[in-house]
Formats: sequence, structure tokens, C-alpha cells
Amino acid sequence: MYITELEINNFKSFGKKTKIPFNEGFTVVSGPNGSGKSNIIDSILFCLALSSARGLRAEKLTDLINLNSGKNTAEVSITFSDDTKIRRKIKRTPHGYYSYNYLNDRACKQSDIVEVLSKFGIKAEGYNVVMQGDITRITEMSDTERRRIIDEIAGVSEFDKKKNQALSE
Ligand code: ATP
Ligand code: MG
Repeated sequence: MYITELEINNFKSFGKKTKIPFNEGFTVVSGPNGSGKSNIIDSILFCLALSSARGLRAEKLTDLINLNSGKNTAEVSITFSDDTKIRRKIKRTPHGYYSYNYLNDRACKQSDIVEVLSKFGIKAEGYNVVMQGDITRITEMSDTERRRIIDEIAGVSEFDKKKNQALSE
């Protein structure tokens, strides 16, 4: 399972609707500093609800809306290789903002997206996305902390949690 297409519309530096194709295996994005490479990753994290506004390098979600377009919405959609399509939109209003989620072009709750993604093994607390600085952090952390991450990836921690729960009952 992999992402086949990303469509970014009015999100961060992407003022124009932009379609980015991904191939199976490896895709490299290159460009000068400040050209929007990390914003592509941010758009994926936003669409799949894998990160808070802070994790997306924004103070609040409405900061994700392109500044120069004059529009009040930002939208990102992701198509997976099995044709599952996930779309998220944010709309600024005078009273705050609204967030909309769509699964295969039908409106849904964010929890529905979380459920579908967890079937693919994509989870907010998982390590599906290795962020800038993560590798350095992993090499510099203590042995115990590193072990905790390995347990999480290997799926051991889920059994540890269940074991501890059973012991406490
Ligand atoms: P580097 O190589 O330095 O990591 P990068 O290619 O990853 O750079 P990004 O961090 O993705 O660059 O993009 C930064 C640019 O995005 C900045 O110029 C910033 O002004 C712009 N940007 C961020 N949010 C918005 C927004 N809401 N509207 C317009 N532009 C934005
Ligand atoms: Mg960057």
C-alpha cells in the first residue's frame, strides 16, 4: 500500500491547485530552501490527521491556509494504491474554523479516517513519518528510550499494555 497521488489546494505555500504523483518505492522531492518541500510533508500529515497544528509548524490550523490567495479554505487529498481517497478541508469563518473530512468523496468523521488508516498500519503515535531531526534525536536518546521506540515499531508494546492491564485486574 502506498500513496499514488497527493492534491494540494491553497495549503501553505501552494496557492495553486497542485497534483503530485508518487511512485511505488521511492520518491525524492528536491528544491531550494523555502520552496515548499516540507510543506508537502505537512500537507500529508494534515490530510491524514497525524499531527497537531504545532507539528505542522503552524500556530493554529487556519495558518495553514495560503496567505496570498484571499480564499478561506485549504484542502488536501490523498489517493492510496487501492483507490482509497482521503480528503481534509479547513475553512476559516468569522467565528473560528471548521474542519471537514471525506472518505472516498463522502463526508465522514475524523474518527472514520483514523479507523481506516489504522487498518493500513498508519497511526498518529506510530513512526510512519520520520521528521527532520528525528534520526539525530534517536541516536542521542538513552538506551531505555530507544528500546521503547523499537518495542512500539515491533508491536511488542501493545502486548505489554495488555499484559499490564490484565495484571492490574
Ligand atoms: P528547506 O529546504 O529550508 O527545508 P523547504 O523547501 O522545506 O525549505 P518549506 O518549509 O516547505 O520549505 O516552505 C517554507 C515556505 O512556506 C516559506 O517561504 C513560508 O513563507 C511559506 N508558507 C508557510 N505557510 C504559508 C502560508 N500559509 N501561505 C503562504 N506561504 C506559506
Ligand atoms: Mg524543509
